[in-house]
Amino acid sequence: MRRQLGILAIVLVNCLSLGAQAPKRIAIRTGKLIDVRSDAPISNALILIEGSKIVSITAGGAPPAGTELIDLSHATVLPGFTDAHTHILLQGDVTEQDYDDQLLKQSIPYRAILAARNARIALDHGFTSLRDLETEGAMYADVDVKMAIQRGEVPGARIFASTRAMAPTGTYPLMGFSWELSLPHGVQVVDGVENARLAVRDQIAHGADWIKYYSDHGYFFTPDGVLHSHVNFTDEEARAIVEETHRLGHHVAAHSIGSDGIAASLRAGVDSIEHGDGFTDELLDKAVKQGAYWCPTITVGAYVAPGRGGNWAPMVEAERKAFGKGLRKGVKIVFGTDVGGFPWTELNQAREFKYYVEYGMTPLEAIRTATSTAAEMLGWSDKIGTVEPGKLADLVAVSGDPLADIGELERVRFVMKEGVVYKNEFK
Ligand SMILES: [Zn+2]
Repeated sequence: MRRQLGILAIVLVNCLSLGAQAPKRIAIRTGKLIDVRSDAPISNALILIEGSKIVSITAGGAPPAGTELIDLSHATVLPGFTDAHTHILLQGDVTEQDYDDQLLKQSIPYRAILAARNARIALDHGFTSLRDLETEGAMYADVDVKMAIQRGEVPGARIFASTRAMAPTGTYPLMGFSWELSLPHGVQVVDGVENARLAVRDQIAHGADWIKYYSDHGYFFTPDGVLHSHVNFTDEEARAIVEETHRLGHHVAAHSIGSDGIAASLRAGVDSIEHGDGFTDELLDKAVKQGAYWCPTITVGAYVAPGRGGNWAPMVEAERKAFGKGLRKGVKIVFGTDVGGFPWTELNQAREFKYYVEYGMTPLEAIRTATSTAAEMLGWSDKIGTVEPGKLADLVAVSGDPLADIGELERVRFVMKEGVVYKNEFK
């Protein structure tokens, strides 16, 4: 012990004599830079990074002496992406059996190991931030994975966690088992206004950045083509969740697929509508008026529809129409895939960009959903979402031109998060 103290003293003296260590300086020479602020890419920019932040962007020029140079002069550089609807603790659930097996046959530590791997996969695909929308029965394990990444113990995307999510009794799996069994739940089961407030406090106390609740279930079409659903919470309960969350300085995301669920979420004043397949003109107008964000998660719908059958394929089609209308009305659309609903290892979540362009966005508009708009929704506009001085150095690069071929974003070859390079295939 004494010897260790001696070593510690020497280390401290060395540190003091050296003064505070100067932050690492890196310069990136870009071919094209899509900074997301301007409508056109900038050619031959030089991005100077100190420590975790961007300090300057200049047209060409030589990097200052003593700066490490990364040559991306044959690449297009963009801000790191945000996927605003993920489940790092889930590995695909096309069928009920897929879901039940994960909750019944996998321990939470095992699931957390896969979650850390998934956060690494996301980073590798260029997603430097994830808003992870509930652990599906894995309690608060998202907060553990978030902390391990934050502390540099494992590489991965930055996580905005929402822990357990909420739904009332009898509306969310596991369901359909013998009443004699005591089983885990995919959410925190919440009934009544006081319990709703308590659940919000509990989840925030355990590290939730966002609160998520399930607004509806049981989706069905009426002959007029409108997608309906059964609403889960009473208005009083939903309002209690939202009010308590806002009072504590956090935000609420609500799973809302059918028009009834979307209407209930908007009445409660949620910050983001998740999925939103059943959006009608009237509800889109209301979302615009209230400034609510819409996270469409098209990739998961398209992926699970063939395996689930029933209404799922028509729901994808309904969402395509709603998306076009929402775009024209100016709803704030945020990139979200629901990855975890489809396996992390099978499909690159950047596939979602292609749907947005197919559904009517320009490539730059699609890029903004995963960068500047996502940052705005997270309240992180001063830190991420664009490439500009003062922001965190979250950068990705691709070989081709994503403004000509949005599919290029599925082939990210360089990833930097907070000034640290995690992937560079341009060497
Ligand atoms: Zn989800």
